Amino acid sequence: MTTVLTSASPLTAADRCDRCGAQAYLRVVLLTGGELLFCAHHGRKFEPELKKIAAEIQDETERLTAVPESSAEEER
Ligand SMILES: [Zn+2]
Repeated sequence: MTTVLTSASPLTAADRCDRCGAQAYLRVVLLTGGELLFCAHHGRKFEPELKKIAAEIQDETERLTAVPESSAEEER
């Protein structure tokens, strides 16, 4: 994986998904210079398209899976 660069600032709770307004866990820097934010759900959904147009993808979705397995199962 070489798509994740750490030069960008970390995403915060103030960063929101462009599609649904949920907290963003992916920042996509476009080849055209723009920037898109996505939650984990939409980041995965649009990943194939994003990879075609992204200069850089900052993926922080691993923070979502950092919770203990027991509590993650309770959400189902
Ligand atoms: Zn979303």
